[in-house]
Amino acid sequence: MATEKTFTGPPVRPKDRFLVFGSPAIEEAEVDEVVRCLRSGWLGTGPKVARFEEDFRAYRRAQQAVAVNSCTAALHLSMLAAGIQPGDEVITTALTFCATVNAIIHAGGTPVIADVDPRSMNLDPADAARRVTERTRAIVPVHFAGRACDMDALGSLAEEHGLKVIEDCAHAIETEYHGRPAGTIGDFGCFSFYVTKNVVTGEGGMVVTQREEDAARVKILALHGMTKDAWKRFGDSGYRHYQVVECGFKYNMMDIQAAIGIHQLQRVEPYWQRRSQICERYNTAFRSLPLGLPADPEPDTRHAHHLYTILVDEARAGAGRDAFLDRMTAHNIGVGVHYQSIAEHPYYQERYGWRPEDYPNAMAIGRQTVSLPLSAKLSDEDVEDVIAAVERSLG
Ligand SMILES: *Cc1c(COP(=O)(O)O)cnc(C)c1O
Repeated sequence: MATEKTFTGPPVRPKDRFLVFGSPAIEEAEVDEVVRCLRSGWLGTGPKVARFEEDFRAYRRAQQAVAVNSCTAALHLSMLAAGIQPGDEVITTALTFCATVNAIIHAGGTPVIADVDPRSMNLDPADAARRVTERTRAIVPVHFAGRACDMDALGSLAEEHGLKVIEDCAHAIETEYHGRPAGTIGDFGCFSFYVTKNVVTGEGGMVVTQREEDAARVKILALHGMTKDAWKRFGDSGYRHYQVVECGFKYNMMDIQAAIGIHQLQRVEPYWQRRSQICERYNTAFRSLPLGLPADPEPDTRHAHHLYTILVDEARAGAGRDAFLDRMTAHNIGVGVHYQSIAEHPYYQERYGWRPEDYPNAMAIGRQTVSLPLSAKLSDEDVEDVIAAVERSLG
C-alpha cells in the first residue's frame, strides 16, 4: 500500500510481523478434526454439521438451529421464511455491513434504513418508528460490535405494527440482553462464522429460531428446496428419493466447515474473556487521548466484544481518519472500518435515493471510525504494539 511516511523512526512493528486485522485463533483440535473429516471421505453436509447445529443451539438456548454457508444466506432465508414479499418494506440500520441490506433485496423486499443512536451505535428505535409505513413487514436489528440493541423498544415497535424481527447477530455470538441470548429474542437470529468473527468456520452461518416450522422452511430452502430427507440421501440407510417442493438455494454448510466450528465453539468463553481483557487494556491506555472511545455496555447486557472501535475526529486528534488508517498500516498494524454508512454507497444512492445527511449519526460515525485488532490470538506484546501505534498515529 502506498502510504506517506508521516512519522520519523522505525515503525512500531517490522513489516515481516504485520499484524493482520481479524486473524482468528486456530488450534490443533480444529486441524485434527478437519484432517479426520477429509480422511473419512464425508466432506459434505453430514454428522459434523448436525453436531455443530446441536452444540450451537444449546449454547444459544434456542429451540432450533440450522447451519448454512454464511450469515448472508442465513439472513436471506430468514427473510423468506418470515414471508417477505416483493414490495414489503424491511427496516434496518444505516451502520451495518452491506450484506444486511442486500439480503433484504435478494428476498424481494425494499430496504429502509434508519439512523443509529450515537452512543450505542445501534438502530435508534425512535428513528425506526418514524420510518414505519403501512408496507413495513419486518425489522432487522444489528447488534453492532457485539452490543445488544434496545430489544425492548424494538420489540414493542414490532408488536405495535405486527412486524417480524430478524436479528443480525454476526457480531453477537456471546451477546445477551436482559438475561436472554441474542438471536432468540426476535423471530430469527442470524450468525456468521466468517474468518474475522468470534467463532469461525472459514465461511459459515447459522439461523436460530423458536418455531419448528420456521427451521424446517429454512432447511428446505438451504438445499434446493428439496424435502428434508434429501440431507440423508447418501447415508447408509438406503437410497432415499427426494422431492423438490420449492425453488431453493445452495446454502448448506459442509462437514469440513463444521469440523472447525465444533472446536471453536468449545473455546467461545475463554476467547470472549481474552477479548474483554484486551478491550479493558485499550480503554485504560486511550482514556487520556483525544479519541472517541466505545461507551460502557448497557446494564443487564453482555457485550460480545467483537469490535473495538475508536472515533478519530480530525479537529481533536490532529489527524483525519483516513490519514490515521494509513499511519497505522505504515506501523504494520492492520485496521478496519465498520462501517461507512450504507447511504455512502453509490448503488443504494442510485436505486433508493439515500443520502448520508439523512442519517447524520451513522454518517458521522462512518467517517471517523477505526476498528483496532481484537482477536483472542493477540499476545500482550501485540496489544502494546497496537497502543503504541495509536499514540504515534495522532497529531
Ligand atoms: C459479517 C457480517 C455479515 C455477513 O456475514 P457472512 O457470514 O460473511 O455472510 C452480515 N452482517 C454483519 C453485521 C456482518 O458483520
